[in-house]
Amino acid sequence: MAIKGLGFDIDGTLYNNLYMYLCTIPTFIKRPILAYHFGKNRAAIRAVRPISNFRRTQAEMVAKEMGIPETKARAMLQKLIYEDWVNRFKIIKPLKGLSDGLVELRRSGYKLGALSDFPVQKKLEFLGLEDWDCSFTSEETGYLKPHPEPFIELSKRLCLPPEEILYVGNSYSKDVEGASKVGMKTAYYSKCKKGGPAADITFRSYPELFDYIKNECGVKNSSS
Ligand SMILES: [Mg+2]
Repeated sequence: MAIKGLGFDIDGTLYNNLYMYLCTIPTFIKRPILAYHFGKNRAAIRAVRPISNFRRTQAEMVAKEMGIPETKARAMLQKLIYEDWVNRFKIIKPLKGLSDGLVELRRSGYKLGALSDFPVQKKLEFLGLEDWDCSFTSEETGYLKPHPEPFIELSKRLCLPPEEILYVGNSYSKDVEGASKVGMKTAYYSKCKKGGPAADITFRSYPELFDYIKNECGVKNSSS
């Protein structure tokens, strides 16, 4: 397996998913109806095609359900989700063994990418993990995972074919199956669930994943 690059999901993959719930609760308390419709349509939008402007389509779906103008829904989502909610993630910390492992991968010559369905920059900054060849949200491609577009875009931005990328994520259906369908190798992070056939490895800690990469993917020499 000639892996030359890795792509990482962020939420629940780079930090404990518990933080996601802690950061989301105040959003639901502050604007429960808007947060509910956002969450509901975030699931529904995965089945929508074609989408030329993701945030406009998302706002149109939320506006229709709430009976408000699209421009108002978009402004409310911008404030509640893309500003207030994202800023709550100041408390997140990287999972054990991750930071040093990423430095080692970088030193060994692997390309690294971060890809999330939600905005990425603030979270990576809060995690202290900012050394990536690329980092972006699926929203930029118009489609959320597990659509192929975000994974194809990752392949383009890493300048590597999908089969030379190992994608790491904590959602079997969104990360593992999505990445596998475009030809990437996959690593499924789960403390308790068993991986399915689309996962090349299921791991429970980052030292376990980095050992796998060292043994199965071959340690690249930093001078190569
Ligand atoms: Mg995740």
